Amino acid sequence: MPTDKLLLDSVRDYIVQIREEGMDGLPTTQRPIVIDKPTSSVAAPPAQAVASVALFSKYPGLEKTDDLPALQTFIGNCTRCKLHGGRTNLVFGVGDPTAELMFVGEGPGADEDAKGEPFVGRAGQLLTDIIERGMGMQRAEVYICNVVKCRPPGNRNPETDEVESCEPFLLRQIEIVKPRVIVGLGTFAVQSVLKVKTPISKLRGNWHEVRGIKMMPTFHPAYLLRNPSDKRLVWSDIQEVMRFLGRQIPGRARP
Ligand code: SF4
Repeated sequence: MPTDKLLLDSVRDYIVQIREEGMDGLPTTQRPIVIDKPTSSVAAPPAQAVASVALFSKYPGLEKTDDLPALQTFIGNCTRCKLHGGRTNLVFGVGDPTAELMFVGEGPGADEDAKGEPFVGRAGQLLTDIIERGMGMQRAEVYICNVVKCRPPGNRNPETDEVESCEPFLLRQIEIVKPRVIVGLGTFAVQSVLKVKTPISKLRGNWHEVRGIKMMPTFHPAYLLRNPSDKRLVWSDIQEVMRFLGRQIPGRARP
């Protein structure tokens, strides 16, 4: 039997089972995922439910982590992909666990690996400027994390198997924090999260959706350090985010 068919069959069985137990959503204590009522006995489960079941089945117990400390404990001293071998620190994420705004980057660089905190090098300082000088917010008011939690050697892009291993943790972070908006930073992070190959130059400036949450792709701060003339595009994207959040756009010069 093809793998896809097996997966769909097991998902369908699982959904039938939890319905029989009187539940109308998948068992997560935060933001239950409501399952549409079937129109027939062979109705396929919604794509979101399939994705969530696949997410939870990859790491049983992940769905029970209902706050960030619990998720961090679950991840532990992770060796689930080969990136663990080169890291100094696992870089989980930082910020307000109830933030309405989340920034997602690609993965830790050397400074982040050394400190165990995302976006603390030169690019991180620029991101902090965007948040504090540009948006008039405090860095501690937002939540910042990456697609992969361990530094890829030589700052290479994370490989497919590494993203697949780490992605459930990012998706769970999103489910726990429940931001109103995610800002995706850079080609890799945005393409990984949205599952597309479209260039960032075409994705940025337009709203997308990740697990029911609005996502605004924009350029990575490291790219802006090399191409400062594109700061105006990022500022335009950030203003769009500010408008969506109903926040006043500071009248002073952009970062
Ligand atoms: S990158 Fe993610 S999956 Fe890989 S070892 Fe680090 S925490 Fe684990």
